[in-house]
Amino acid sequence: MHIETDGLVIKEQKIGENDRLITVLTSSHGLIRAFVRRANAAKSNMLACTQLLSYSDFVFYQGKNSWSVNSATPKASFFKLNEDLEAMSTAFYLAELFGELAPENDSAEGLLKLLLNSLYLMAEKKRPPLQVKAAAELRALSDAGYMPNLVACEHCGTYETNPMVFNPASGLLLCKDCGGPADGMQLSLSAVTAMRFICYSEEKKVFNFSLSDEALLELSQAAEQFALQQTGRTYRTLDFLKTIPKG
Ligand SMILES: [Zn+2]
Repeated sequence: MHIETDGLVIKEQKIGENDRLITVLTSSHGLIRAFVRRANAAKSNMLACTQLLSYSDFVFYQGKNSWSVNSATPKASFFKLNEDLEAMSTAFYLAELFGELAPENDSAEGLLKLLLNSLYLMAEKKRPPLQVKAAAELRALSDAGYMPNLVACEHCGTYETNPMVFNPASGLLLCKDCGGPADGMQLSLSAVTAMRFICYSEEKKVFNFSLSDEALLELSQAAEQFALQQTGRTYRTLDFLKTIPKG
């Protein structure tokens, strides 16, 4: 059996002396873990196409116990990410997060597009990494089945107050009269409006918003806490990102 699909390499591990095991977020089959054999890697392009954050057309072949990469043709790479350590580290973190959220043996077209857009916007410096990270986190979680309920105050149904209270563990929103400090994070209405936009707008518009630095910081903290609490784990790449001085 073989699979032909486009995909982005989101993880790579060296196995023994000669082989590498890569995890690819594919559009048609979600996550595929496949070996890159030294013999195959000698073929043109194979090495470049199977590096972390390379986007390629793949042909995977199924062996007895595992998949291996038979061929790969490059579609895009995001080498400009190398110019900015924060952008690069954010990309690594998003790759790890999406690896946690993506299905296996099921279409992951939406998640793949979202991640590719995130990398593109950071590589081309069209959006700041902090904004890309927050939007990608919130939208990926929503698409993967962890949609927060941001429609109105959970208690009284009020649509908006300034501020509002967001609980990253429950994904619920309270107005300023129903929610206190013990109920979650206090967020300005601008941050809440951005969260609504990210979760409810059309796929291709997810990154098309602008916020003050202050509101962006609130949004990014809310999105990150939501991602951490909903997936219930920590991320090595996020810990590293935190050690980088902000530019
Ligand atoms: Zn209320």
